[in-house]
Amino acid sequence: MSRFWSDVVKGLNPYVPGEQPRLANLVKLNTNENPYGPSPRALEAIREATTESLKLYPDPNAGQLKLAIGKYHGIDARNVFVGNGSDEVLAHIFLGLLKQARPILFPDITYSFYPVYCGLYQVAFETIPLTDDYSIRLSDYAKPNGGIIFPNPNAPTGCLVPLAEIESLLQANPDSVVVIDEAYVDFGGESAIPLIARYPNLLVVQTLSKSRSLAGLRVGFAAGHADLIEALGRVKNSFNSYPLDRLAIAGAVAAYEDRDYFEKTCRAVIASREKLVKELKALGFEVLPSAANFIFVRHPQHDAQESALALRRRGIIVRHFKLPRIEQFMRITVGTDEQCAALVAALQEIAGKR
Ligand SMILES: *Cc1c(COP(=O)(O)O)cnc(C)c1O
Repeated sequence: MSRFWSDVVKGLNPYVPGEQPRLANLVKLNTNENPYGPSPRALEAIREATTESLKLYPDPNAGQLKLAIGKYHGIDARNVFVGNGSDEVLAHIFLGLLKQARPILFPDITYSFYPVYCGLYQVAFETIPLTDDYSIRLSDYAKPNGGIIFPNPNAPTGCLVPLAEIESLLQANPDSVVVIDEAYVDFGGESAIPLIARYPNLLVVQTLSKSRSLAGLRVGFAAGHADLIEALGRVKNSFNSYPLDRLAIAGAVAAYEDRDYFEKTCRAVIASREKLVKELKALGFEVLPSAANFIFVRHPQHDAQESALALRRRGIIVRHFKLPRIEQFMRITVGTDEQCAALVAALQEIAGKR
């Protein structure tokens, strides 16, 4: 704390990102990155864009990327907003659409950036508890609100809400914005993007960080009615006109064009997840049903924090949250089959030693 800090900064409670260790040879299963790496075509496009042209500012509206995303999802580019990672897109949503007279609603156990943005932008919120089986029950959100936001599948649980229930929520809340954060939807969910044509209060957010393996490029987007998109554009143009650089635009466009690579790698992650779930259940773990590229697990006999530390000593890092209701869980990113095998072997050894 310094006397130079503003009152806003003094009151902040910043997000704590998962660790990015410098050590090589770690089995890194803590931040839900994709083990397969970006499409080779995306990498090639980034190399090709690395020229003299970097002296010029990029297209402030990233029009080419909006077209590529629109084409992929069968929507108009006017219904797409892009940003420097979906975290930035979410930040603009909190300021531009969710800062309302009534409190917004989100689950008690969810992406921990949401309360952080509420703190930054002074957005009032109320959390709605997950059910005893850690799922989101949308009938619990039937109350006056300034907006609703949740990830689908949810993080860090991996649990999915069926699209039909989301549609009922949209119908029940015609006067507030409903934001579905689909960071993990490509690993087993069905996107709500087709619903934006019928629901002007729906905003769907996606990222290229997980299923397209471009966490290092920082690209995310929102899809919704043109009026919602315009609000985000107004915030963006009051904050940073060029959130996406030339390399990011080039790489992201190419990633959308390489549908085969995307589908193949998503299928591989899903197959590894199903195998890993079986193996961990055989070791006595309870595994929440996951539609994501991570699983949320607990063991009736082994303390989660101790297990995470024991894994770490064996060069495997997973995520543990010291938070009410979930402190006995570990969140484990689905890696390659080899990485998953190393995890299972280490957990077997850890269990055997006690
Ligand atoms: C990873 C993640 C994001 C952020 O993704 P970026 O595009 O890398 O900023 C947003 N929401 C959820 C739920 C996530 O897990």
